[in-house]
Amino acid sequence: MLDAARALRANELTAVDLWAQCKRRADVDALVSRAFVGDRASVDAHARRGLADARASDARREGGASSEGSGGTASAVDGVPFAAKDNLCASVGTTTAGSAVLRGYRSPVEASAIARLRERGGVLLGKTNMDEFGMGSHTRGVESLGGTTTNPISWKGARSSGGSSGGSAACVANGSAFYALGSDTGGSVRLPAAYCGTVGLKPTYGRVSRFGLVAYCSSLDTVGVLARTVRDAGVVLAAMQGEDALDSTTVPRCEALDALAAAFEREAFDADAPFDADTDADAPLRGVRVGVPEEYAVAELTQEVYDAWDATARLMESLGAEITRVSTPRARDALACYYVLAPAEASSNLARYDGIRYGDLTPVMSREEFLNAGDFQSAVAKARTLGFGLETRRRVAVGAFALSSERAAEYFEKAQIVRRLISNDFDRVFRGPDAVDVLLTPTSASTAPRLEDVEALSPAQTYAADVMTTPASLAGAPAMSIPVGRSRVTGLPIGAQLIAPRFREASLVRIGAHVERRASYSTAAASVSALDARGEAATARRDELVALISSEGVAVDDVIAANKELSRLEPVVEAYARVASLRAERASLETLIRDGDEDIADLAREELREIEARIPDAELTLQTLFLPRDDADDRGAILEVRAGAGGDEAALFASDLFRMYSLHARKRGWRFDVLNVSETEGRGVREASAEVLGDGAFGRLKFESGVHRVQRVPETETQGRVHTSTASVAVLPHAEEVDMDVRDEDVRVDTMRASGAGGQHVNTTNSAVRLTHVPTGIQVVIQDERSQHKNKAKAFSVLKSRLYDRERSKLAKERAELRSSLIGTGDRSERIRTYNFAQGRVKDHRLDGAASTTADVKALMDGFALDEFTEALMKKRTEELLSLSTMDSK
Ligand code: GLN
Repeated sequence: MLDAARALRANELTAVDLWAQCKRRADVDALVSRAFVGDRASVDAHARRGLADARASDARREGGASSEGSGGTASAVDGVPFAAKDNLCASVGTTTAGSAVLRGYRSPVEASAIARLRERGGVLLGKTNMDEFGMGSHTRGVESLGGTTTNPISWKGARSSGGSSGGSAACVANGSAFYALGSDTGGSVRLPAAYCGTVGLKPTYGRVSRFGLVAYCSSLDTVGVLARTVRDAGVVLAAMQGEDALDSTTVPRCEALDALAAAFEREAFDADAPFDADTDADAPLRGVRVGVPEEYAVAELTQEVYDAWDATARLMESLGAEITRVSTPRARDALACYYVLAPAEASSNLARYDGIRYGDLTPVMSREEFLNAGDFQSAVAKARTLGFGLETRRRVAVGAFALSSERAAEYFEKAQIVRRLISNDFDRVFRGPDAVDVLLTPTSASTAPRLEDVEALSPAQTYAADVMTTPASLAGAPAMSIPVGRSRVTGLPIGAQLIAPRFREASLVRIGAHVERRASYSTAAASVSALDARGEAATARRDELVALISSEGVAVDDVIAANKELSRLEPVVEAYARVASLRAERASLETLIRDGDEDIADLAREELREIEARIPDAELTLQTLFLPRDDADDRGAILEVRAGAGGDEAALFASDLFRMYSLHARKRGWRFDVLNVSETEGRGVREASAEVLGDGAFGRLKFESGVHRVQRVPETETQGRVHTSTASVAVLPHAEEVDMDVRDEDVRVDTMRASGAGGQHVNTTNSAVRLTHVPTGIQVVIQDERSQHKNKAKAFSVLKSRLYDRERSKLAKERAELRSSLIGTGDRSERIRTYNFAQGRVKDHRLDGAASTTADVKALMDGFALDEFTEALMKKRTEELLSLSTMDSK
C-alpha cells in the first residue's frame, strides 16, 4: 500500500489507475480463488462508488490538497484501493456476513472502520468472502453467496485460504486489493494471513471501533488488517484506531502508533528517511526481549513450521534481541475455553435473526410458508433452521446449552474463570523483572491444508486449527502473523505470530517491521502476488525438467512425459519472463527518476508511463494461462453423431459429419476407432459413434457438441429444392479405467443380432451387445465388431464415458455461474453451426465477424478447415472466462 501511495505522490499513477488494476485482477480472481462476494447489483454499486472515490482522490491531488493523515503527514491511504470482509457494514451494496439469513441485506450505516478509511481517502473495492458469521477456519461460504475461497498461492489442488477472513487474505495475496479489513475473534485474521502469505494484524480489543461489525462474540470481536507488509498494516491500523462514540469499548488513540505510521510514510516517500534511523542498523532489536512459550510446541506442529519458528527466533537474536523461554501454562486450555465462550455469546447475538427483520429469506422460505407455519415460534424456528448453516446452528445449540441455567455454572462460568487465568498468564510474562516485550509463536500448526482433507474433519478437529491464536484473543492482546518462510515441499507460506501486551501495537508493529525486513519471505510478501509465486514455480519446474532430459541414463518414457509437461509450461515461463522484464525496466526507470538530472528524469517519466501501461496486459496474459483448465481437455473423446430432423437427408448429413471428424482426426494424428454405425437404407447413418484417442482430443472436439444444420439440395430431390435438415453431435470426455467404477451388478447385458441395411455389419450370430446401466437407465448398443466379446468391451468403455460425463455435468451445474460463460457445454440442443451448401458457406453461430464463416465447405468437410473454428472458439472461451469488467475504467 505504501508503494502505491508513493506512486500516487510521484504522479506516476492515478488513483483511478490503481482502482482499475485491482478491478481487473478481481475479475480474474472471480474465476480462480473467488475472494469477493456480492450479487451483480452489489458489485456494481461498489464499483460506482469506488471509482467516484478514486476520481475524487485524484482531483484532490491535482488541486494540491490532501486529506489529513496520521501524525499530520499526507494520508497514505488516500487513493489506495482496499477490500472489506462481508461482516463489516457498507452503506452501499449488501452485507451478509456469509449467511443466507442476511441475503440481500442492505445496511443503513457504514462500519466505523470503513468510514474512517474512506474519510482519509481510502477507496473501497468491495466485500470479501467469509465463513458464516465468522464461524470457521477455511472460508467455506454458503454456496449461493460466495462458495469457498481457495488459496491463491496453492498451485496444485484446492487448498484452504484459512478463515474466517479467507476472502480478505486471498485478495491481498493475489494482488486484487492493496490491503483488506477482516475480523478476528479467535484467529480469523491471523490464520488466513499465515495460509496465504500475507501479514495479519489483530489489534487490542477496543483499539478499533466495532460499530457496524456484525456481532459474533462481542467480548472477543476485533477488526483487523490483512496487508502485504507489516508497515502497511501499521499505517492502516493507525488510520482506523481511536475512540468512537458509537462503540463504548473503544480506547483513545495510541500516539506511539501514529508516530510510527508517520515514520513509515516518510520512509516510503523519501528513501533517505528510514523509519528506524535512530536504531543501530546492525542490531535494531537490541534491548528487545522475546519470549518463546514452550506450550506452543504442540505435537501437531509440522516439522517445517517448527523449523520456521526456530529460524525466526534465531533471526531476531541476530538482530540483537534477547530470546528467553517462557511458560504460559494455561494456553493449553484456551481452545476449550474459547469454544464455550464464543458459541455462548453467538447464541445470544444471533437471536436477532428471526427471518422477519434484516435479510431476505424468501429464496429458501416463501412468505406463505412463513405465515402458514402455525404459531409464531415455529415460524421463526423454521426460518432459523433454513437461514442458518449447519455450523451456525451447531454453535447456537452449544451456546444455548452452555448458558442454560442448569449448565451455566459448569460451562459458561467456568470458562470465564479460565479466560481470566489465561489473561493472567500473559500479564505474568509481560510484567515484572523478567518481562518480555513480545511472544513469538507459530500462527498455525501446519501450512494451508487441502480442502478435501478439511472436509473429512470432525467439528472438533476443525476447531483445533485455532490452537495457536485463541490465547491472545482471550487475553485481548494484540497479535500479528508475519510470513517468515515457505514449505520446501509445497511452496506454501508459513507464518509466525508475535503477541504483545495489551495496547502495545506500536511496539508489536515496530518489531514486526524489523523481522519482515530480514525474513526470507518478507520482501517477497510485498511482491509475491499469487501470480509471481506461480510464475516462479513454473520456471523452477521448467529448469528441473530441462535438466532431467539432458541427464545421463534417463529413461525414454520419462523424456516423453517431461516433454509433454514442458510444452504446457513453456508459455507460462515465457509470459512470466515478460512480466518480470517489464518490471525490471520499471525499476531502473524509477531509479533514473530518483537519481538522474531533471531532463533525464522527464524522459524516464514518459517512458515509465508507457511501461506501466503495458504491465497489466502482460500480467493478464500470464493470468490467462492459469485459468482453471478443464481437466478433461487432455483426454481422448467419445464422439456420437445422430441424424436429426429431415429423414434420409439428415442421415446423409450425419454420415458426412462423421466422415469429416474421421478425416480431421487423421489430420491431427489422433486414432479414430469406430464403435458403432447404424446405417439407413441409403448411404446415410442413423447413429454413429467413435473413440477418438490422442492428445487434447476432447479439449478441441468438445466445441462440436450441439445441433448442426444443413441447407442443400438432397441427392434424392428431383425438383432442385433446398432442404433443411439437422444432425446432433455429442462429444464426451473419454473415461479411463481410473475414473468410473461401474459395478457389474448395476449393468444388464443383452446380446442380439446386429442390425443393418444389408451391408457388412450384418451377421447371423448374436454379436451385438446392449448394456443397460440400471441406476441411471443409460443404454449403450455396440455392434461394430464381429465378436461379441469385443463389442462388450467397447460398450463398457462408452458406458463409462457417459457416466463420467453425467458426473461432470452434475459438477458443472454446481459451478453454474462459471459454466454459463463456457461455450456449448451443458445444452446440447442449441444450434451451433449451419452448413449452407447452396450458398457455399458454413457459419458458426457462436462466433462473430469474419471468424464465424468459412467459404471453403469442401476443405471443412474433408476435415481440413475445422481447426479455424476450433481455435476461434477456444479464444472466445478464454475471453469469456476472463470476462473483463463491463465498467469503463476511465
Ligand atoms: N475459527 C474460529 C471460530 O470458528 C475463529 C473465528 C474468528 O476469529 N472469527 O470461531
